[in-house]
Amino acid sequence: MAIVIKELSMDAHDAPIVSSYNDRIRPLLDCVDKLRHLKIAQEGIQLPTIVVVGDQSSGKSSVLESLAGISLPRGQGICTRVPLIMRLKNVPNLTSPELHLEFNGKVVQTDEAGVADDIVLATDEIAGRGKGISHTPLTLTVKKNGVPDLTMVDLPGITRVPVHGQPEDIYEQISNIIMEYITPEESIILNVLSANVDFSTCESIRMSQKVDKTGERTLAVVTKADRAPEGLLEKVTADDVGIGLGYVCVRNRIGDESYDEARVEEARLFQSHPLLSKIDKSIVSIPVLAQKLVRIQANIISKCLPEIVRKINDKLSANMADLNRLPQGLSSVSEALTAFMRILSQAKESLRKILIRGEFEEYPEEKEMHCTARMVEMLNVYSGQVQAYRFNFEGNNNFLMDDVMALEEAKEIGLPNFLPRGAFLSILQKRVKGISPLPRDFVEKFWDYIEGILVKVLMHHSDSYPQLQSSMRRAAQNLIAKKKDRSFEWVVEIIGMEMLADYSCNPEYTTTWNKLMEKEEEFMAILNDASKSSRMKIDGVDVEIGHLRYYKDVVKQAFDLRMRLIAYWKIVMMRLVDSMALHILFSIQKLVNKDMEDEVVADLMAPHGGGIERMLEESPVVAEKRHRLTKSLKLLKESKDVVGNIMDRLMMNSDAC
Ligand code: GDP
Ligand code: MG
Repeated sequence: MAIVIKELSMDAHDAPIVSSYNDRIRPLLDCVDKLRHLKIAQEGIQLPTIVVVGDQSSGKSSVLESLAGISLPRGQGICTRVPLIMRLKNVPNLTSPELHLEFNGKVVQTDEAGVADDIVLATDEIAGRGKGISHTPLTLTVKKNGVPDLTMVDLPGITRVPVHGQPEDIYEQISNIIMEYITPEESIILNVLSANVDFSTCESIRMSQKVDKTGERTLAVVTKADRAPEGLLEKVTADDVGIGLGYVCVRNRIGDESYDEARVEEARLFQSHPLLSKIDKSIVSIPVLAQKLVRIQANIISKCLPEIVRKINDKLSANMADLNRLPQGLSSVSEALTAFMRILSQAKESLRKILIRGEFEEYPEEKEMHCTARMVEMLNVYSGQVQAYRFNFEGNNNFLMDDVMALEEAKEIGLPNFLPRGAFLSILQKRVKGISPLPRDFVEKFWDYIEGILVKVLMHHSDSYPQLQSSMRRAAQNLIAKKKDRSFEWVVEIIGMEMLADYSCNPEYTTTWNKLMEKEEEFMAILNDASKSSRMKIDGVDVEIGHLRYYKDVVKQAFDLRMRLIAYWKIVMMRLVDSMALHILFSIQKLVNKDMEDEVVADLMAPHGGGIERMLEESPVVAEKRHRLTKSLKLLKESKDVVGNIMDRLMMNSDAC
């Protein structure tokens, strides 16, 4: 921060404490005061502020009194229990000072004699009559001939140990308030130190060092110079505690001196005291302090204003955009219907993109929403599981045994050499039964996934109408439950068909069977000649067939039967995968094109749905947001006008120069 302070060599007798400099600062300060009055801090925009901190009884209130020339509540314990914003306005030629207090939205006129009592009353009203403290500020405006144009905030003094009647966490409470005021970069910290203490032990020094490490925005006022003149010069010259903006030593009013008498006494003290007179005149006395503060204030304000203008503009446009994004308040059923139809058609379009067309621009980062790709993956997994359920050759000494047994059981009185279909079907049925959980599990998983997608899309498009969302969610869940049931029925049907019927027009069946049957000769030769090795390759697998020599009468038929089964099973597996793919594609199309709409409308219009009129009630969340944004916009616009005016004036002045 580049704050340049020219030290003014000023004669302490130069009362009143003003200079023509004030005239140029006044408009700036008025502008900041207006912004403060508008409570622009609520918008997160910090104002340049001089914040007075200090340990309890260090002399904070006395310093403010000296600057203002009025009496503030003073005494033992904490008197300052709320932030006191003190606005001093120099009004030349004003015969009697004008004072008023503002707090909790009201204005109380007061005068020099009554101000201390009125502050106590106002504090009681803000923070209660006890010893509690509050964040709510109290503003005191003093219009007076000869005061410096300054706005400062007096904060409760830091106390370590709670006194009787104070809350246990008084230290935390006070330090929270102080931190709130001194943390912003825009704050100048006026650290009030009592000359009779070791500065490095001051709590207020510790706190300001936390937020202003280099001390560049900290100014120290050393009070009670009259009480502890010894070593004061050394203390302020050594600057052990790193005060960037320098020290000013003062002597405040004592007892029932008048303010004018106090200034004369102070001047005399620093002029004639053997030790204090050695301190450079540019860093002693209340008038010097006033000059410094006025300059620092002018610097900080002119430095901060452009940034404040920028922040106000940024906030304004951000809030405006937020407000525009809020759903329109609907006022008639036809408006509501239009909005509802828009939501439906938008949801439909999104679903069509992600579920059917494979266009993901609405959800570029969310892999889960790239549905067409995810559906292929799911189908591939399913296909893999189905393929894995192929005929395996049941280990050693089991090959063809199922077929042999089935043929034994299918025996009937009749001519030999007819392959009994009953044997074929009984083995086929066992296999179909074995594979039947796979399609069922698949459709279950598939619809669970689609439910998540559907809910997400519907919620997204209806997020401006939270009152619709429960109905939308319910509709999506009902719809998926129906779809799932429909798919289960379909699975039962296709499994039933595979069990009861055996047909394929696919020539692949005959081709495969013929190819497999080429091995029949070799197979029979092995069985008929016990001297041969009893192993052979069938359908690419090496199998043991020796045990079949005991079943010579049926084994030829069993071989034929098995080869038919192998050839046919390949067709069945393909059919299970292909038909599943067609089934889900068809169901999804139907869901997007028709079912979703039907279900959502049906739920909304159902007796529990509340009908389209529900959309007319603005949701409390949206209403609250609209209210907050409108309020904040009003404040920001007012603030913009305030700074706009002053910026125009500044431009004109600089043109004039
Ligand atoms: P605060 O708690 O920081 O606001 O401190 P006060 O302003 O209430 O001052 C505490 C006490 O110190 C009061 O009794 C003041 O009269 C006294 N005091 C403040 N400044 C001076 C000073 O410069 N010289 C002397 N002798 N007493 C002072
Ligand atoms: Mg005080």
